[in-house]
Amino acid sequence: MIKYKLVCKNCNLVFDSWFASSNEYERLYKKNLLKCHNCNSIKVSKTLMAPNTISKKKKSNNDYEIKKIKNINKEIKKFQKFIKNNFNYVGENFAYEARSIHYNKKKSKGIYGSVSKKEIKELKEEGISIESIPWIEKKDN
Ligand SMILES: [Zn+2]
Repeated sequence: MIKYKLVCKNCNLVFDSWFASSNEYERLYKKNLLKCHNCNSIKVSKTLMAPNTISKKKKSNNDYEIKKIKNINKEIKKFQKFIKNNFNYVGENFAYEARSIHYNKKKSKGIYGSVSKKEIKELKEEGISIESIPWIEKKDN
């Protein structure tokens, strides 16, 4: 089971929803089966992944939500830093590099870069394991 935070683009409601797997989410999303409880809009999409350990107790307090999002952003930034230090950036060549590592059994530190949804699907179908993570652009402040 995997928990996603979903956001309704129509009324801005954010709510948690459980899915059997990330594929299950993609399937429902593509079929427009994800609906907002509040306004019934299907303009619902995934926000950041919520760790499963987060208490199920609901707090609708805004400050709490904002703080939580800030903490998640902080975690993502930490993770980004880790990736930048430990992985090679390949930018737009991600799909090419991932295949090259996979098929040539090339030893690699691991790579990161940008890839389209279509390419993600193709790579997964070829048995290449990749993970997508939310990425925050650095702001200077
Ligand atoms: Zn809504």
